[in-house]
This record gives sequence, structure tokens and C-alpha cells, in this order.
Amino acid sequence: MTIGVKKVARPEQMSFGESLYLLEIMKGLAVTMGHFLHNIAHNKEIPTIEYPEVRRTMPARFRGCHRLMKRPDGSPRCVACYMCATACPAKCITIVAGESPDPAVEKYPVRFDIDMLRCVFCGQCVEACPCDAIRMDTGWHTPPEDTREKLIYMIDKLLEK
Ligand code: SF4
Ligand code: SF4
Repeated sequence: MTIGVKKVARPEQMSFGESLYLLEIMKGLAVTMGHFLHNIAHNKEIPTIEYPEVRRTMPARFRGCHRLMKRPDGSPRCVACYMCATACPAKCITIVAGESPDPAVEKYPVRFDIDMLRCVFCGQCVEACPCDAIRMDTGWHTPPEDTREKLIYMIDKLLEK
């Protein structure tokens, strides 16, 4: 049995002038210049959001900054099982578990922080959590900060959202 060989169409031979791409570069620059001049002439019509004072409303399924959910008594719903930290591809979740005084809960997070500079907003932590203790439904993306430390969100910050 003969195995059919697919013929691949080769691109047409380019002339020397075409191989320099000068015409294509000029066409590209003309498009860019057209948009530039249009925006200068109509700059009042360009939608500008004065971030961070004004924020746009994100779509309902937008994956924003994390929050930790609370129980009715205000304690974290998290049981420090490390599932989210294990699933996190960026390894940006740090958890330290402690013994809970409530025997029904067993463990709770003494420390739970997320390094937002490393987070890739993939949502794996939310998917991995067995008790819906972490969500990314705040509708906020990471705000600008002036130090790296401020972008490591500690448990108190994650619980207050
Ligand atoms: S969203 Fe992804 S990268 Fe960010 S903390 Fe969760 S698992 Fe890690
Ligand atoms: S947030 Fe969920 S997955 Fe992460 S440690 Fe807490 S209970 Fe486990």
C-alpha cells in the first residue's frame, strides 16, 4: 500500500523589490499615521478612564483579585489543606496551618498570603479549593503600588474584601 504524500504549495517566488518589503512597510506606516492623525483630530471622542480614581466595571466572569471567604462567625472558611498552594503554577501562595480550637474544623490558616506580583490569574487555586474558601470575584485587578511588599496580600487583606 502506498502512503499518499501531501504536496505543500510553495509561496510564489518574490521579486527583488518585494523581498525588501518596502512597499508593505510604507502601507503599515500609512495605516498607523492615519489612526494617529484621526485620534489627534477627534481626541474628545476617545474614551479615557481616569484610572485609578475611576474604574471600569469588569464582566461578571472576570478573574480579579482574590478574597478569602468567611464563616458566619467571621473566621476564615479555609481549612489550610494546601490544595490551592499545590495547584498554583506560580507558587505564589504561602500557607502556614495551625490547630483550630474547633474540633470540627481541625486546621485553620495562621498565615495565608498571595504574592500578586507572581500570580498569573489562572484561577487554579479557586478550582482546587474543596470548600469554596477562595474566590476571584472581587472585580478588581491588582492596583498600582509603589513597593513590592504592598503586593503581597496577607490574610487580613484577603479576608476584608
Ligand atoms: S490565580 Fe493561579 S497563579 Fe494566582 S494564586 Fe491562584 S493558582 Fe496561583
Ligand atoms: S483556600 Fe481552599 S484549597 Fe486553599 S488551603 Fe484553604 S481550604 Fe485549602
